[in-house]
Amino acid sequence: MKKVFVKSYGCQMNVYDAERMADMLATEGYSETKVMEEADLVILNTCHIREKAAEKVYSELGRVRELKNEREAAGRETKVVVAGCVAQAEGKEILRRAPAVDVVVGPQNYHNLPSLLKKPLSERVVDTEFPVEDKFDHLPKPSKAAIRNRGVSAFLTIQEGCDKFCTFCVVPYTRGAEVSRPVAKILDEALRLADAGVRELTLIGQNVNAYHGEGPDGAVWSLGRLLHRLAEIPGIARLRYTTSHPRDMDDELIAAHRDLPALMPYLHLPVQSGSDRILDVMNRKHTGDEYRRLIERIRKAQPNLALSSDFIVGFPGETDAEFEDTMRLISDVGFASSFSFKYSPRPGTPAADIETQVSEAVKAERLARLQNLLEMQRQAFNRGTVGQTLDVLLEKPGRHPGQMAGKSPYLQPVQFESDRHAVGEIVTVRIIQAGSNSLFGEWIGPGSQAAA
Ligand code: SAM
Ligand code: SF4
Repeated sequence: MKKVFVKSYGCQMNVYDAERMADMLATEGYSETKVMEEADLVILNTCHIREKAAEKVYSELGRVRELKNEREAAGRETKVVVAGCVAQAEGKEILRRAPAVDVVVGPQNYHNLPSLLKKPLSERVVDTEFPVEDKFDHLPKPSKAAIRNRGVSAFLTIQEGCDKFCTFCVVPYTRGAEVSRPVAKILDEALRLADAGVRELTLIGQNVNAYHGEGPDGAVWSLGRLLHRLAEIPGIARLRYTTSHPRDMDDELIAAHRDLPALMPYLHLPVQSGSDRILDVMNRKHTGDEYRRLIERIRKAQPNLALSSDFIVGFPGETDAEFEDTMRLISDVGFASSFSFKYSPRPGTPAADIETQVSEAVKAERLARLQNLLEMQRQAFNRGTVGQTLDVLLEKPGRHPGQMAGKSPYLQPVQFESDRHAVGEIVTVRIIQAGSNSLFGEWIGPGSQAAA
């Protein structure tokens, strides 16, 4: 059997795509390996969101080239594929810069991999045209064993692409226009996952709450309606969705946070900045106060809601006062966890052409202050759960013998002593201690969603 090694960079969409590639290649006779040296096929599933992420790929390709040469000297052939958003954005340029690469394939074209791989090594190919057909229709369904191997929590892509064109972001160019998968296909995939033992589904999309897929009744379904339907699937106890845009939090979705016990009270809702002027130049189409009011409405629907966000510091032209607006918004709203980045100019995006770029030193200083505040909030949130009883979905044995490890509703890793619980169970745990990255607790009883 031939072996494939897939390395994924960046977001959850890439994790999902990498799993689909592995499923597809399994039907072509490839088994997955975690060791690059033994792979007949190496796939780098790349991310183009920031310059650092894209450059990492080229340094990894240098290492892959050495490996390919060593294997060739030993009489073994290695094919190298660059997939994902760098493939889409740079296409042929990759073949020029990285001689080891045989195939460049975009995120909407990877269903073509089997035929692309059949070409002789001398014929290097690029496939990045946005196809007319739906790649999902051409991807094989994962086997039960493959799903089980990946654990009790699974990603499910329901939407791809983005029409928002935030001025800093490459996604609309690399992933293309917004497309929602039909409800029937999502249900089919969710049922299959549940049947193999998945308990938690995270619905993913670049702009997941812009979801507007065709329902089995012919009507257009929103994300709120889709969540209600997915919550009916036996075995599925937890639902999450990511990543959302504040502009697409409609009433139906907010009501789902009130009405659906399976919808976890944890929301990743990136705000990027707290300055109205910067938000405007970013083309986010909302103000800081509109974001604050939106959070109030969602918290009214779900008082236990914990929030997470993405922030960009040093967007072109960002003044000290505008950065302080972001710090104020963070203090006002309070986040349980967050991702934060220095602005990175991306070729072809409008913000990259703004003349007043912020210096690296200022970006670094702002990022350090912002991350310090966010870290204090994260730790305060974790400490706040001490004494509470939380449902924990068990994912694997714990760090030490006799321990189990799982996730709280707020995605916090939780460990507790147990010799009688199985992966996939949901149990109630009283939190007794908050470490820097995980919580420690004691078993209290079965979880409130255990019967789902
Ligand atoms: N669709 C999501 C939204 O609208 O919030 C974001 C998707 S993007 C893959 C993830 C995060 O990367 C963004 O929220 C943003 O904070 C960050 N990001 C995107 N472009 C960036 C850039 N040019 N420089 C720095 N960070 C960037
Ligand atoms: Fe990028 Fe998100 Fe803006 Fe779309 S909504 S352009 S994915 S940051």
